[in-house]
Amino acid sequence: MQALVGAEVDLLVLGAGIAGVTAARRLAGRCSRTLILEAADAVGGVAGTFAVGDFRFDYGLHCFFTAFPHIEKLLDEVMAGRHARRPLTEKVWHRDAWYPYPVTRNLAAYPADVIGKALADLPQGPPSPAGDAAAASEAAVGSYLAHEFVLPQLRKYWNSDPAGLPAGVARAGFMATADEIRAGAVQGLDDPPTRSWSYPADGGFATYVAGLADGLPIRYATSATRIDPAARTVRTADGQRFHYRHLVSSIPLPRLLAMVDGAPPELVDRTAALTFTSVRLVSLGVTAADTPASWVYDLDPRVPWFRATFPGEYSPGSVPPGSAAIQTESYFVGTPTTGDDQHADEVVTSLRRRGLLPDSASVICRDVRTVTCASTILHPAEAPAVQTAIDWLSSQDITTVGRYGRWDNAKFDVVMARTEQLLDGRPVVTAEKGSESDGAQRS
Ligand SMILES: Cc1cc2nc3c(=O)[nH]c(=O)nc-3n(C[C@H](O)[C@H](O)[C@H](O)COP(=O)(O)OP(=O)(O)OC[C@H]3O[C@@H](n4cnc5c(N)ncnc54)[C@H](O)[C@@H]3O)c2cc1C
Repeated sequence: MQALVGAEVDLLVLGAGIAGVTAARRLAGRCSRTLILEAADAVGGVAGTFAVGDFRFDYGLHCFFTAFPHIEKLLDEVMAGRHARRPLTEKVWHRDAWYPYPVTRNLAAYPADVIGKALADLPQGPPSPAGDAAAASEAAVGSYLAHEFVLPQLRKYWNSDPAGLPAGVARAGFMATADEIRAGAVQGLDDPPTRSWSYPADGGFATYVAGLADGLPIRYATSATRIDPAARTVRTADGQRFHYRHLVSSIPLPRLLAMVDGAPPELVDRTAALTFTSVRLVSLGVTAADTPASWVYDLDPRVPWFRATFPGEYSPGSVPPGSAAIQTESYFVGTPTTGDDQHADEVVTSLRRRGLLPDSASVICRDVRTVTCASTILHPAEAPAVQTAIDWLSSQDITTVGRYGRWDNAKFDVVMARTEQLLDGRPVVTAEKGSESDGAQRS
């Protein structure tokens, strides 16, 4: 592969997240000159890492686990011993204490009355298909577990009424069948692909993407603004123009479609109306934290965060010696109802109230930022517009890849596998334990 000379390239890739990097790696051997344009000043995208003082944080909890052996092998090779497999510990606040998460796989650890009510209420036989996430949850785990745990979780994670969410997202809330729930009431269940996970020894989660991007030509702080598919050019915010032979984009589908000359206005409007959650992160460097697990969930609607993670627990190098770190994730659709400062104050107060930030500990530094497009919400009626948009872009020789380019909520490893398959022209796998809609909430 040759580095870029001038503004003529064989392969132009938009975005240096895991999808863009995987695409460039996959096609680089088939293209003489490759270039990735990245709007930010570092690799990683949503799987990136940022610094706050001497502390390092990811854009929300990121851990690596995969059911694809070749992806596991690739990351082992790239990391060359610089990442470690860890046991997964997750807890959720219930009544007045932390319990193993999710309840549906760990019922045995809960108070006797919770076990009794949950088992008495479990559905008999396979659940009948349901049209929305609330009905699907009740059909799968019964009314008691649904109303006590699953629906509060869905409400908080999707910031929406579960009755208005597609049934596909429900599984991320319950994560077990009725038979598994019964088994988990005897002894907590093991869950091989997700019970242990990997994380870089140093440098945060972005180290995975940086390792995979090693040697690829990337132009940072370069935001694509306009694409002319007839002339095969991409214009950027700083006034540059790039000619390409092949164009692969990993930027969010609605944003991409809106920048392509000649895109049908009705399709632009339909994709612009697609919904998604954003996540506001409060990242705190603190003198000490009390950590019941690698990360914890709080489903109480009055608590201003859904998940709190403790980066020092799984990446000691991300935290200066003698201190600790906490990051909270609060999901919203549209615009948040409080300003960043007020939100951060409320987060700190709630962390103290839950005992995660001891009264004796002080905050060394704090940062508030938002990932604008976190999880996509795809209602069945909107799926045809997504497919039509992907097909129209393909007719213009623009290939879309990635979680937001395909609007499919795939997690990190599935983005890698799907991007490879798409570019190799092989049929793309359907998600098994791969997307948030079909799998664990923790992705
Ligand atoms: C809160 C959260 C937690 C998650 N946790 C996990 C987890 O634990 N495990 C897991 O496997 N997966 C997890 N995921 C999913 C994982 O982060 C994504 O699957 C993956 O990072 C998506 O990569 P991508 O390349 O498709 O998209 P992105 O990372 O969004 O990459 C797109 C890139 O395009 C760039 N870009 C955008 N617009 C332009 C433009 N106009 N010009 C140039 N560049 C542009 C962006 O800056 C970005 O770098 C999580 C996701 C979220 C939101």
